[in-house]
Amino acid sequence: MKVVVIGAGTMGHGIAQVSAMAGYTTVQVDATLLQASAGVERALGNLDDGVKRGKVTEAARDAAAALLSASDDIASAVADAVIVIEAVPERIDLKHSILATADAHMPSHSILGSNTSSLSITDLQDTVTHPARVVGLHFFNPVHINPLIEVVRGRRTDDATMTGALAYVERIGKEAVVVNDSPGFATSRLGVLLGLEAMRMLEEGVAQAADIDRALELGYRHPMGPLKLTD
Ligand code: NAD
Repeated sequence: MKVVVIGAGTMGHGIAQVSAMAGYTTVQVDATLLQASAGVERALGNLDDGVKRGKVTEAARDAAAALLSASDDIASAVADAVIVIEAVPERIDLKHSILATADAHMPSHSILGSNTSSLSITDLQDTVTHPARVVGLHFFNPVHINPLIEVVRGRRTDDATMTGALAYVERIGKEAVVVNDSPGFATSRLGVLLGLEAMRMLEEGVAQAADIDRALELGYRHPMGPLKLTD
């Protein structure tokens, strides 16, 4: 079973890595072969680090590495994919064009995911001929470490797509939260709220930045305070 990840940057290389680690034949696509290969190299680097730290066995690293490859051609890469996930920059025009290309060349029953952190999944469904298979798969950075994926249901996403997306999340060993399409989904919406309120508190002189961050880190067990996070 093949997963194709379009965009080999901060998020894409991690999505490719965890997909390969779950046993999917994984193709990392970017605008040039050099960029796609750089994504594969980053994933291999993470795997090597994992071996050094005793988190990944050598056999698991080698198995994942054997499943990873690079391409600069969306059309041919997605032709036999079961899941395609785009992780290109957060620009609606670019995402529309990438999704339309993938949709036109991938099998009609396959799932088309977007890793957008804020764009409307319902809007992203507009330019494809199979909108029912488009779903938000919002991973968190660093992908190989963070366990969460927000699975976002657009207005036209069908049940089969949701079932397939949740099965993928389970297979790669992550935990899903299901959210209906809404600005900022659940995570970005709450994150922005906390970040803005923390900035207002700083402006009002309620506390120093470090103390606002420590309050949330120690008091509410947030791994990182809202000001550090928004920085
Ligand atoms: P990035 O800039 O690190 O990577 C984007 C990649 O897409 C680059 O390698 C770039 O070369 C490639 N790309 C650009 N145009 C392309 C094209 N036409 N065809 C193929 N590849 C192309 O960006 P990122 O931080 O990985 O973010 C990607 C997506 O993930 C965005 O939608 C972002 O909002 C979302 N996201 C980011 C984070 C984060 O912490 N960085 C977290 C969650 C979601």
